[in-house]
Amino acid sequence: MPEVVVLGCGIVGLYTTYCLINDAGVSPKNITVMAKYMPGDQSINYTSPWAGGNFSCITPNDKETLALDKFTYTNLATIQKKLGGPSCGLDMYPSTELWDEYPGDEKILSLKSYIKDFKVIPKSKLPEGVEFGINLTTWDFNCPYFLANFKKYFEGLGVKFIQTELTHISQAYKPDTKVVFNCTGIGAFSLSGVKDDKVYPTRGQVVVIKAPHIKQNKMRWGSDYATYIIPRPFSNDELVLGGFLQKDNWTADTFETQTADIIKRTTELLPEILDRPLEIIRVAAGLRPSRHGGPRIEVEHIEDKLLVHNYGASGYGYQAGFGMSHKAVALYTKAKRQQSGKL
Ligand SMILES: Cc1cc2nc3c(=O)[nH]c(=O)nc-3n(C[C@H](O)[C@H](O)[C@H](O)COP(=O)(O)OP(=O)(O)OC[C@H]3O[C@@H](n4cnc5c(N)ncnc54)[C@H](O)[C@@H]3O)c2cc1C
Repeated sequence: MPEVVVLGCGIVGLYTTYCLINDAGVSPKNITVMAKYMPGDQSINYTSPWAGGNFSCITPNDKETLALDKFTYTNLATIQKKLGGPSCGLDMYPSTELWDEYPGDEKILSLKSYIKDFKVIPKSKLPEGVEFGINLTTWDFNCPYFLANFKKYFEGLGVKFIQTELTHISQAYKPDTKVVFNCTGIGAFSLSGVKDDKVYPTRGQVVVIKAPHIKQNKMRWGSDYATYIIPRPFSNDELVLGGFLQKDNWTADTFETQTADIIKRTTELLPEILDRPLEIIRVAAGLRPSRHGGPRIEVEHIEDKLLVHNYGASGYGYQAGFGMSHKAVALYTKAKRQQSGKL
């Protein structure tokens, strides 16, 4: 029976599994991942397959989150290598980030300290209405494909995966379970024993097109909008166009007016998209698992067992989630040592 349970099989649950093995030295055979939805499944309550998903400047401008970004950016190459290289669905592409308002020194200095090919774009070369811009080389995920490959990698190591829906967090504990990592994303809002009312959705809609001629990211950030263009590595030339950031909107529906708006904004941002006829592959909506006060990365002691929360990644689970999971596993290691009287 399992010693360690990871509840949730989105990107955060999978990063957590990785950190348990590589940071804490937990044997893969002692890890069980439980989740209602697994890679390959589709549901509005399973956010990870719907992400763009790249490393961008979407995260808030606080020290804590900037550190999670930095950890993820600078360590992703180790995961890429273990999964067999870029063909796992994780690769680097050029990117341009444009802001209508200067994002602040803290963010820019942090990015500059570690981002590959970071370069400020001269003001004279910025489009109208843009206050600040940078060029960089960034990480891009082919999200559904990467999730499937990440899971397959863990299965090869002996991690068990159990598809099940829990109604209460206590159901994750079997008699010899010592710790449960709660990586339930938006599920943390409704799961009994957790029911975190600080969790709320930030809905997005994306349009996936076929675009073999676009191999770059381009992002524009305004005070009340976000427009983004993200290539999907090893996807047969898919390009993700977005988007929307709609707080407290739970709908899984997609809207033609939003699709038209996304296409208008992204083709204005990168007119080369229209160098070939627009070929829409799909339109989808997803709920970013946002949380007032930021992600919850915290240990709870429940009698002699531990519950480690690791959720609330909002719009940055891919780009900060590795850092979140590294932190969650470090907290677990410390709590375990305290329990055994070694601290
Ligand atoms: C349109 C859009 C674009 C995005 N773009 C980006 C991007 O470019 N870069 C980036 O970094 N992020 C991006 N994101 C955000 C990113 O997708 C999320 O931060 C991330 O997917 C959250 O992962 P998670 O593992 O926390 O949650 P999820 O992927 O939702 O996984 C939660 C897991 O918990 C399980 N679960 C929950 N409750 C229960 C229960 N009661 N019983 C059993 N299992 C349960 C679920 O089945 C699932 O397996 C985007 C999101 C959207 C919607």
